[in-house]
Amino acid sequence: MNLAIVSLAIQLDRAYTNFFEGRAKHPTFKSKHRNHDSFAVPQCWRIDRKFVFLPKIGEVSWKKHRHIEGTPKHLTVTQDGDRWFCSVNCEVEIQDPVAPDGPFVGIDLGLKNLAVLSDGTVIENPGHLKKREKKLKREQRRLSRKVKGSKNRERQKKRLQAVHRKIRDARRDFLHKITHRLVESYGGFSVESLNISGMLKNHRLAKSISDVGWGEFGRQLSYKSEWNGNTIVEIGRFFPSSKMCSVCGWIKDDLKLSDRNWVCGGCDATHDRDLNASLNIEAEGLKIATATGCPSGSEAATTAGLAGSHACGEEGSGQRHAAGETGLDEAGKIHLASGRSVFQIAHAVR
Ligand SMILES: [Zn+2]
Repeated sequence: MNLAIVSLAIQLDRAYTNFFEGRAKHPTFKSKHRNHDSFAVPQCWRIDRKFVFLPKIGEVSWKKHRHIEGTPKHLTVTQDGDRWFCSVNCEVEIQDPVAPDGPFVGIDLGLKNLAVLSDGTVIENPGHLKKREKKLKREQRRLSRKVKGSKNRERQKKRLQAVHRKIRDARRDFLHKITHRLVESYGGFSVESLNISGMLKNHRLAKSISDVGWGEFGRQLSYKSEWNGNTIVEIGRFFPSSKMCSVCGWIKDDLKLSDRNWVCGGCDATHDRDLNASLNIEAEGLKIATATGCPSGSEAATTAGLAGSHACGEEGSGQRHAAGETGLDEAGKIHLASGRSVFQIAHAVR
């Protein structure tokens, strides 16, 4: 069969699966102006030390970014600005993860700080976009002055794409380091499921919300927890984590976004907004974990009759949203992973 058709069929299948399971929008045709382009090569490709052999294209020289382990399955070629990347999907047999013994923490995501953990740890928001905003604006301004359809405009477009790429790569790299550190040092997490696409409709906050990368943080934390054996519980979207006093449960209805500290009307306790929220998220997460029989935190060590990985909550951002809408019962579903093959992706750049 024609290779291009096979590749398209695989992608279409994936697109429709994602659509029907509520993770993505209905598939659309590719645009010739879109700057992120890719195609899959399911077979007849091979890599040696110097070249990637692609059917109908031939030899392409490459630069190795990561060692390829396991059995290579298929290859995807993607374009990012003026660069081309090859990702190799490999099948690797991995051991069933052993649940780590670290403490169970609640995580409150924010804008000033990326995350505040219920043990008091604060992860600052590095503000990747903010750092390069000036440069980005300059390159955008230059682009707007170039004549449409001209060579100069094309060149400028690539320069602008390079700035965007730099921001995106820095953000992703930072999040990878943070989530790696988290799954290594803690046993389990309780996180809020956030309605990010809804929040982005608030134009005053949209830029900051996209810059901090909550969605990517949640995605990475969720799959790394599953691989590593950490417990992860998701709290419903309507849980009043910020408004509730973590000591007595009193609810402050008139809490504003600008209130960083507040005093409880029930027990006079003074709260740091984010720390209080993370404590509530931790407590709620423990409650859900206990109700669903999912071992978590210190209890994990004692009740872990089930060996292997335990991940509460659901996978995939779309499903998470659905869980948030239907309430807490849904959010606490248990997912047990066992005997899986994990795909590792290696990148090569031309
Ligand atoms: Zn109180």
